[in-house]
Amino acid sequence: MPDTYPHAIIFDLDDTILDTTLSADRLWSRAAEYFADRAGVDASVFDEQMKVSRVWFWSDPDRNRAGRMDLYKARAGCVEHALKVLGASDNELATAIADWFTERRIPEMKPFDGAIEALQSLKQAGVLLGLISNGKGETQRDKVIRFGLEPLFNCIILEGEFGAGKPDRRVFDHALSELQVQPENTWMVGDNLHWEVAAPQALGMKGVWVDWRNTGLPADTDVQPDRIIQSIAELVGK
Ligand SMILES: [Mg+2]
Repeated sequence: MPDTYPHAIIFDLDDTILDTTLSADRLWSRAAEYFADRAGVDASVFDEQMKVSRVWFWSDPDRNRAGRMDLYKARAGCVEHALKVLGASDNELATAIADWFTERRIPEMKPFDGAIEALQSLKQAGVLLGLISNGKGETQRDKVIRFGLEPLFNCIILEGEFGAGKPDRRVFDHALSELQVQPENTWMVGDNLHWEVAAPQALGMKGVWVDWRNTGLPADTDVQPDRIIQSIAELVGK
């Protein structure tokens, strides 16, 4: 094993291994295009407002917690909010759009370029791999299976199955004990500065931030990642 690698690396799933947000944005844009006439609004205005409504919805910690356990309701809620702001409230239409999106969501999601190859190469190098993903058990497990991730990981913890999610320390403690590694020999890699950098650092792990948007650290953050990468492919020097 190259001496630059730790004993174990624990990964986040969405927006770390999988191209989650951008693929959702693309699908929402198609939904706006498809349903604009029925909503009686301009497609690009509808698309823009749905983006704003999603940020509004997911930026509230309580809505985020409930929403990630019931994505369908969250989607319908975001669309309802957008339609309301545009003066086109229509709950039946909001449901139809949420249905349309939900049907296409996971089939259209893909891993980031080079992500699976990076995991394979770390595994071959003898690094123990963990996966910790927040969200509903069925949804996250479906992604794990669909993208063939199960055989790559020594330990997989999904919030809905485990009963707790990041940044709760029980999740990290459980992963370390399953992997039988010490925190100082372990990296946590993910795109959420609080869940995947600050929380694991507080337990003695190294926190690697995935800046997939390539925007750099937000000016108002106190979090100091041990390393910043744009893609997990960089972990294997690609
Ligand atoms: Mg993530």
